[in-house]
Amino acid sequence: MSEWCQNKKCPEKKNQNQIRGSKGAKYYQSNKAYSYYGYWCSMGCRDTWFNEHKDTCMNAVGFIDKQVLPLDDAWFVRADYTWNSGNCDYLYYIINKNRGIKQQITREQAQTPEDIARDWDYRTINDEQARELAVQLGLAS
Ligand SMILES: [Zn+2]
Repeated sequence: MSEWCQNKKCPEKKNQNQIRGSKGAKYYQSNKAYSYYGYWCSMGCRDTWFNEHKDTCMNAVGFIDKQVLPLDDAWFVRADYTWNSGNCDYLYYIINKNRGIKQQITREQAQTPEDIARDWDYRTINDEQARELAVQLGLAS
C-alpha cells in the first residue's frame, strides 16, 4: 500500500496544491490517494491508470464469457416518482418483465426500515429481497 496516488502522471495535472519545495527548486508532486477512489486521488487519475494497465488487470482477474440472468426469476422493485399537486411523491412497484407483472406495493414493502428512517425515498430493496417479497405476495413460489 502507498498513501500516494498511483497514477505516475499525477504531478502533470500541475494543480496549485501540488506545488512543493523552496524558491528556485519548486516542483509538483503527486496527490495523496483519496479513500473514495481507492488507490488514486481522483476519477481522472484512476482512468489514466486503468487505461495504461487494463490488460494487466484483465489477465490477472481472468476473462469471463457472456452472463445471463433468467427473466422468470428476475424480480425487482422500482421507485417511480410522480408530481402530485406540486409535491413529488414516490410510487413503488414490484416488477417481473417476463411474467408481465408490475404491481404497486407500499413503501414499507419497497424499502428497508433503515431507508425509511433516513428518508431516502428513492431507494428500494435489492433483487434478492424483491424475490422474497414476490413469494410473500403470492406472485412467485
Ligand atoms: Zn492523482
